[in-house]
Amino acid sequence: MSDATEDFAPHLKPYADQINGLRRVGHQLWNRGWSLGTSSNYSVVIDRNPLRLLITASGKDKGHLGPNDFVIVDEHGKVTPTNQPKSSAETLLHCTAASRCGAGAVLHTHSVWATTLSQHFFQLGGLRIDDFEMLKGLEGITTHQSSCWLPIFDNTQDIPALQAQVVRYLDEHPEEKCWGYLIRRHGLYTWGKDLAEAARHIEVIEFLLECMGRTLRR
Ligand SMILES: [Zn+2]
Repeated sequence: MSDATEDFAPHLKPYADQINGLRRVGHQLWNRGWSLGTSSNYSVVIDRNPLRLLITASGKDKGHLGPNDFVIVDEHGKVTPTNQPKSSAETLLHCTAASRCGAGAVLHTHSVWATTLSQHFFQLGGLRIDDFEMLKGLEGITTHQSSCWLPIFDNTQDIPALQAQVVRYLDEHPEEKCWGYLIRRHGLYTWGKDLAEAARHIEVIEFLLECMGRTLRR
């Protein structure tokens, strides 16, 4: 991967560090088999007021993201400046995590475990993971005697409708800490205050999902 700033389009040059960070994490997630076939999308917040995100462009190979495979979007998910490629289809979900959950970086993967468990637990509305040492990798958790609830939303290509489901859940469960969520037969969304925390969360949650899945199969 080249870090040379001359590889970047002029409007992306100021964000070379953030882009290279997302490229490195993207390669790791692809390497783990969680982001195959151009699936997944990743973002970092580059401005808070008003909100602006740097997010992967639609349809790119997440294992080999190039310096210009990213776009800048506003708080409504609109690309700005407008002469950029299309952003990821699920951009609005990133905007919601940034505006409602304090995310500084958002990572979304399509792993086998997230996909299968989101179907298995869908009728329960979510998946509760408790009493695992690895829970301590989630922000705010200090003991294995803890619990993480991952809500599961039904999949749809109507992303504003999916965003509305997520917002409704957050509104109705202000007391339930939310580290992420699953989308049925689709994948996992998680985030962190920065890219390092988001990357840790996705590794921890994917690990825990695999534990849950393998336990079910016994
Ligand atoms: Zn997806």
